Amino acid sequence: MAPAPPAHARVSSDTAALQVALRALHLYGGGIDGVAGPRTRRAVRRLQRRRHLPVDGIAGPRTRRALGRRGRPRLGSRTMRSGHRGWDVAALQFLLRRRGCGPRSIDGGFGPGTAAAVRTCQRRRGLGVDGVAGPATLRALRSRGRRRSVASSPAAGTPVRFLRPLRSPITDGFGMRGGRPHHGLDFPVPTGTPVGAGGVGVVRSAGYNAFGYGNLVIVGHRLGFESWYAHLSSVAVLPGQPVSGGVTIGRVGSTGRSTGPHLHFEVRRHGTPIDPLPLLLG
Ligand SMILES: [Zn+2]
Repeated sequence: MAPAPPAHARVSSDTAALQVALRALHLYGGGIDGVAGPRTRRAVRRLQRRRHLPVDGIAGPRTRRALGRRGRPRLGSRTMRSGHRGWDVAALQFLLRRRGCGPRSIDGGFGPGTAAAVRTCQRRRGLGVDGVAGPATLRALRSRGRRRSVASSPAAGTPVRFLRPLRSPITDGFGMRGGRPHHGLDFPVPTGTPVGAGGVGVVRSAGYNAFGYGNLVIVGHRLGFESWYAHLSSVAVLPGQPVSGGVTIGRVGSTGRSTGPHLHFEVRRHGTPIDPLPLLLG
């Protein structure tokens, strides 16, 4: 196996928006880097404790609700313009900054600096220059060369479905389990069983995750979907690698917080775990 960066080195605009919200609540003192590292997780746990939520360090829907107006609305749910505030504006500012368009501060408030940054990026991408962040601008900000191949796959425009990562009955489903949320499906199979990618996508991260997932592969798919494959004994892909459905991304194991060999499979949309079962083919 080639060395891979740790899974928490993954950069996401939703994580950046989360950091902005946590910082405003004086729970987080780190940088707005979009990486869900130990400081960010700690801040999430602090919030969860304060609000008497299950303390897992993951910013799921309930935790986001606890952020109030800073935890909404979701990026892409509205056209953003001057005067708007919230989660989506913070995520937009982070994307603009990553594309080198500014603004100077990432604070979740759409002011003149953000409007100027939007115009800069629109000009560079050959879009209409209006300083308003609608769907086309957002698409341009989110897409990079490697993402475009996913968006233009034959399945683009159809509802997202996932292949089963392996053939096995499911022992544990999505939802509460022993008073704690279970964010995925468990497939109990022997160590070494190959795990197939759920669909066409690009590997976002592949490596050891210190928060219980063990060896973890995350594949990014179109429309904000991700599939997560946890507790692997070995990893067979590298970050940035395009994959198609069924390609072996690793092998089943019991690394991380696991009581025996199984695959823990998650589907996330815009960072939020959702029940994969209705999305599975077959
Ligand atoms: Zn599980």
